[in-house]
Amino acid sequence: MSRIKSAEIKIGLEVHCQLTNLMTKLFCSCSSDYRGKDPNTHICPICMGMPGTLPVLNEKALEDATMVAIALNSNISDRMLFFRKNYFYPDMPKNFQISQYDKAGGVPFSLGGYIQIDKEKIRIRRTQIEEDPGKLSYEGTIESSPSTLVDYNRAGIALIEIVTEPDIRSPKEARLFLEKLRSILEHLGVSDGSLEGAMRCDANISLKGGRRVEIKNISSFKEVERALNFEITRQKSFIERGIIVGQETRHWDEVRRITVSLRSKEEEQDYRYFPEPDLVPVTISKDYIQKVKVKMPELPDDRMRRFIEQYDLTLQNAEILTRNKEMADFFEECVELYKNSREISNWLIGELLPYVRDKNVEIEELKVTPKHLTDMLRFIDDGTISRKMAQSVFREILSTGKMPDSIIKEKGLKKILDKQYVVEMVEKVLKENPRAVEDALTDEKAINYLMGQLMKLTKGRIDPKVAGEIMRRRLSDLTKGIS
Ligand SMILES: [Zn+2]
Repeated sequence: MSRIKSAEIKIGLEVHCQLTNLMTKLFCSCSSDYRGKDPNTHICPICMGMPGTLPVLNEKALEDATMVAIALNSNISDRMLFFRKNYFYPDMPKNFQISQYDKAGGVPFSLGGYIQIDKEKIRIRRTQIEEDPGKLSYEGTIESSPSTLVDYNRAGIALIEIVTEPDIRSPKEARLFLEKLRSILEHLGVSDGSLEGAMRCDANISLKGGRRVEIKNISSFKEVERALNFEITRQKSFIERGIIVGQETRHWDEVRRITVSLRSKEEEQDYRYFPEPDLVPVTISKDYIQKVKVKMPELPDDRMRRFIEQYDLTLQNAEILTRNKEMADFFEECVELYKNSREISNWLIGELLPYVRDKNVEIEELKVTPKHLTDMLRFIDDGTISRKMAQSVFREILSTGKMPDSIIKEKGLKKILDKQYVVEMVEKVLKENPRAVEDALTDEKAINYLMGQLMKLTKGRIDPKVAGEIMRRRLSDLTKGIS
């Protein structure tokens, strides 16, 4: 079987981000804080599309979108127009969605731009402002008369849609792009990606020799990577057997972890776009853009450069820490409490991040605080615990949220400084491992084995440096025939 090289894979993303910093919906004064609320309690005649009502644009949404476009290096159109996207489906009570359009005289909010991922530039095609549809949920099964429930609390929530060019070359790069985008939006303070459904994504993918396939309904970044990996495997097996991959739209089934065909090219919907007559075009002046620009907060790339300079971090570590705003904030809070910034970054990247990834949690859900980490680092510095012990203290902090001093007390993790004890334990190990001792006289590597046994016996509670010196001295005595 031939392997598909990454250069032969083209992935584009279409990301929908809720502007979660807005108090109200995009065109009415309904509260945007709809999560966990009773269904259909955050609605009004405007977002329900009652005859005679008029939408009014949320000014803050315009400011948010302007910041996003600037951060993405995108060119903002000087005239903003809204279009009606017509479709008949119960998630929109009006039978149309107020969106933007790049044809028929329409312009998207902004055009062009890019996000830098390592050395690659992923180009942005366009951004646009639109309203979120409502949420459908299903009850019962096919056998037991199923029903669809509609909740319009989400209908009319402000979204910014960001569409990339097909510049992404692997599922992993797609995830990195989304992480970077989320970090940018969170640094701008416009969207909180940790909120359920705040960032949703459609992907399109084509392999050399096949057509473009769109994947809908991907709910999280992890799922994006999974869905794309599945689609690559599926399309590859088609191409290798000489079967043509047709242009179609597929649905990502999160439970079964497969994509399922929704519709082919021929069934493509016609949305009958036309300009929204109830909203006037808005002129966006250079002056306005400049005003927004000057009050924009620090962006991840600038923060990364500052981290390198101010905290003496490597480019790689600074890049990893600023990939996630919560992580970058956590780091800076630690530095306030403890001077050794490199040590902090090592613990965050080496211990905290793998845990976050493994448990698939958000940093703000963790029980560890900057105080936990920095207290623990001080215990290493003053010799109370070894680095090895600190690792188990840290794991305990993560699972219980207890402070390091009480963990050390409870677990009896204090380092044993008594030299006589170390000497006795060294003797014991040497006595119990005569073969290794014999090897150690001629082979350096066998010493590592003996040290391992020693740390195991003492449960890592002794200072490995001191112990190593004692071990070497005893071995050298043995070589000289002193017992
Ligand atoms: Zn409303």
